[in-house]
Amino acid sequence: MSDLSAETDTLIAELDTAVEAHMNWTRRILRCAILRSTPGEDVLDPMAHTLCRFGAWFMENRCHFEALDAAAAHRVETVHQTMHDTIRSLCVRVMAGAAGHPGDLDRFEQSQSELISLLASFKTLILSKAVRRDPLTDLPLRYNIDSDFGLYQKEARRNRTLLYVGMIDVDHFKPINDTYGHLAGDKVLRQLAETLKRTLRSDEPLYRYGGEEFLWLLKCKSPEEARQSARRVLATVGTTPVPIDDEETLRITITLGLAQVGELEDLSSAIKRADQALYEGKNLGRNRYVFAAT
Ligand code: GH3
Ligand code: MG
Ligand code: MG
Repeated sequence: MSDLSAETDTLIAELDTAVEAHMNWTRRILRCAILRSTPGEDVLDPMAHTLCRFGAWFMENRCHFEALDAAAAHRVETVHQTMHDTIRSLCVRVMAGAAGHPGDLDRFEQSQSELISLLASFKTLILSKAVRRDPLTDLPLRYNIDSDFGLYQKEARRNRTLLYVGMIDVDHFKPINDTYGHLAGDKVLRQLAETLKRTLRSDEPLYRYGGEEFLWLLKCKSPEEARQSARRVLATVGTTPVPIDDEETLRITITLGLAQVGELEDLSSAIKRADQALYEGKNLGRNRYVFAAT
């Protein structure tokens, strides 16, 4: 569970490699300035910022950075270009036997240090986002529920709507692991998370709460609407075949416990009631939803 997703791993490794490549590039420039040798066409080219390895890599992966912080992603591009423009100006003058402009050197140093600190912040953002998500299902983990719950509860109060906490637990999941193996069990959980995400409304968050348990925050105008949503989720999960391998597919069912959240109720109390309703649903024979008493 502590492994980062493969995508995050790759992004972080590439980010480190790109920063390293840029530092090597700076060392190369320094040698040229001191030894009065040519730094090479890739430095002197007016489009050098798009030719260097970092520039090319950043453009390719820009969407990831934009999604995290659009303003900072734009700033990376600006300061990176400034770095290249100022170093080119310095190199051209040095190669012509003149001294570089102190202003160019200042701007080069400032832009380089800003670039490094922007990239360090991105690395922190990428890592903190990754540890808050479940690598198996890519769902947010339970640590995120608290702050979302507060916002949803306030919104429900303001709009005079209802908020429910739904606890979802896979029925007879252990026998799936025992019969088909743990990896097949993982596959079932991954597919269930996808099915649930597809079925729930986009503004109804779903979290991986524990092993084969998921927590759902459900916004409704009435208890009847909550019942309809619960019925829809159960029906979709129950009728969606789950491929285990090339030959075999399984059917799974879930049990759902729902608690209508009181205006001043805290999260742990609502979860406890949803859990009790879930337990009741298991005792009643599974593959059903049960509402907790209000
Ligand atoms: P019930 O209908 O009462 O919920 O029965 P169950 O078999 O689903 O429940 P039980 O609590 O006995 O078993 C849950 C199993 O889920 C046990 C545990 O090994 C398995 N499990 C928990 N997390 C994971 C996971 O990430 N991957 C896999 N493959 N199995 C998991
Ligand atoms: Mg369970
Ligand atoms: Mg279970």
